[in-house]
Amino acid sequence: MSGNKEAERTDVLEGGDRAVDEPADRVLDDSRSTESVPTTTCDPVTEGYKATSEEPPFVHRARAAWSDLLPQLPRRNLMRGVTIKWKYRHPHQEMKTSNLQAWTNSSTEVYVQCPDPQLGENTILEKVYWRILLYHEALHVVQFASSGGPPETYAIMMDHEIKAYGKTHEWLKTAQHPQQYQAVIEHNIDQMIEMRDTFCDEVNEAKQATAHIQDVEERRKQQNERYRNFLLEKELLPEHEDLQDLYGL
Ligand SMILES: [Zn+2]
Repeated sequence: MSGNKEAERTDVLEGGDRAVDEPADRVLDDSRSTESVPTTTCDPVTEGYKATSEEPPFVHRARAAWSDLLPQLPRRNLMRGVTIKWKYRHPHQEMKTSNLQAWTNSSTEVYVQCPDPQLGENTILEKVYWRILLYHEALHVVQFASSGGPPETYAIMMDHEIKAYGKTHEWLKTAQHPQQYQAVIEHNIDQMIEMRDTFCDEVNEAKQATAHIQDVEERRKQQNERYRNFLLEKELLPEHEDLQDLYGL
């Protein structure tokens, strides 16, 4: 990677906690669904930690970013009880090796993946990356705490994402951010709306496609099946049997 490229790079996120590297309209284009999402799997340094009980340095940087963000997070007492963990330590095998950049597992655990090494270490790009990603996960922490646990259905998960991406966008637009972060934040802000719209469009389409079904339970069942397929096809969730398995439950 040339120095020039690093200086020019301002896109830090590939869609919040969901590893999508394309604009929302293309994410929904089925003709592209066979293309795999590029992984942001980490530098060789991380490999060395897999057999140990120690955490790679990026996990420590994520924890520091969480502490820095704490004054701006909602429900601070709740947030103080959150532990940031390395996603490789997640109990579900497919989750461990998935492309997801972050995964809120409960109201006390947020798992993170090594960010794209091109962001650098302790750079403004990396700091903004953590800031946006962790704020979004903090919203899931609030959602899980409010509803007594992680989503039990794909429909609830879709709803959580729509709200979390919408609120992350709102916060990015209105909160006081350190001046040196501003340009990178502005470059990434639209991705939050694009992700929100990706989820919104799918929900609207699922509701339209099932509107003719009279039986409420059957309608919900078909919508949930659709959401499951959508999330798997777009690699917004890793392979799994039951949704609860992804939370190690
Ligand atoms: Zn999310």
